[in-house]
Amino acid sequence: MGVLVENLKKQFNTSHGSHAAVRSVNFEIPDGSLSALLGPSGSGKSTILRMIGGLETPDSGEIYLNGEKVTHLPIQKRGIGFVFQNYALFRQMKVKDNIAFGLQIQKKSDQETQQRVEELLELLSLQGLGERYPHQLSGGQRQRVALARALAPQPKVLLLDEPFGAIDAKIREELREWLRRLHDDIHVTSVFVTHDQEEALEICDQIIVLNQGQVEQAGSPESIYNHPKTEFVANFVGSMNILPAKYQDGVLQMGPYTFSQNHWENFEEGDEIKVFFRPQDIYLSSKPNAYALQATLTRVSFLGINMKVELLSEEGSRFFAIIPHYIYHREKLHEGARISYQIEEISYINTRLGKEIKKLVVADYEI
Ligand code: ADP
Ligand code: MG
Repeated sequence: MGVLVENLKKQFNTSHGSHAAVRSVNFEIPDGSLSALLGPSGSGKSTILRMIGGLETPDSGEIYLNGEKVTHLPIQKRGIGFVFQNYALFRQMKVKDNIAFGLQIQKKSDQETQQRVEELLELLSLQGLGERYPHQLSGGQRQRVALARALAPQPKVLLLDEPFGAIDAKIREELREWLRRLHDDIHVTSVFVTHDQEEALEICDQIIVLNQGQVEQAGSPESIYNHPKTEFVANFVGSMNILPAKYQDGVLQMGPYTFSQNHWENFEEGDEIKVFFRPQDIYLSSKPNAYALQATLTRVSFLGINMKVELLSEEGSRFFAIIPHYIYHREKLHEGARISYQIEEISYINTRLGKEIKKLVVADYEI
């Protein structure tokens, strides 16, 4: 059952008027999964998480945890573990007392508490740090203590609000992998809030993409990345080229491309179309006739494992390609080089007909 959220709404009234932070949100988080609430700042992620945890009351809608309606249950009856970005450890308490805190509230025996604390110190690779105070730990260690403290009372659901947001890039990457491994060991249903799409793609089983207090799309990382349903998702998850096109003379025209696929249902002459393709779906060559289209390479940036190149097509469109180093070197590319190219995997939106992205089959286009 996991977490089920139905028609959840929350409005905040401020001196500037009222503001709908969450507008009729529905989703389900499978039992035992690690799921992400992914969206830009202000999209309502924390408000939703706080309502699941009982820190905020919804205006309407219902929340179920493992099949039980908890919408109006107090926090301490929900069986929730919380981890926030800013540690929130008790500064005057040793690590082991921080971890034991929830167990003492549950009035567990000293022996049981001690045993559980030892178990968690080991599970979170914090052995030998039990006697330290939070200020004697690194950021990554502190966040692991926060996790241990949240897990100690064996919550039904673990809620994580940008837990690695304040940590340096390198350590953040380690913590990510480490959270994934921990989750594979203990399988506690976890809701992970992040604005970092890479983080969500890398470690989560399911991603719920939020925009302006609404769910844009939910699904596996692969489905969100490979089949974005809206322009927002296409842009927010991974990078995307977007070029204008037009429906004219019964075909779709984008610069020198003509898409003559014949099921343009409800298309009308002159319709404005947006065409989408990923930077890694471009094949390019320094041989002018290797591919049918020509462009100039106007800028090169080094991305680490890949190169990002900006291309200016003959009809004046600018877009990006991401290519492996070996292709960059093999083709002897450089700024100012003339290249030929081809685009694989194209999607489009007819803005007059709605906001859903449709795929074009590669075999359907000609030049
Ligand atoms: P996120 O976590 O995705 O950044 P939040 O859930 O924190 O987004 O906020 C969603 C919207 O609700 C934002 O516009 C924010 O300013 C507003 N908001 C959040 N909490 C409050 C509050 N307590 N009072 C007024 N507005 C709030
Ligand atoms: Mg937030």
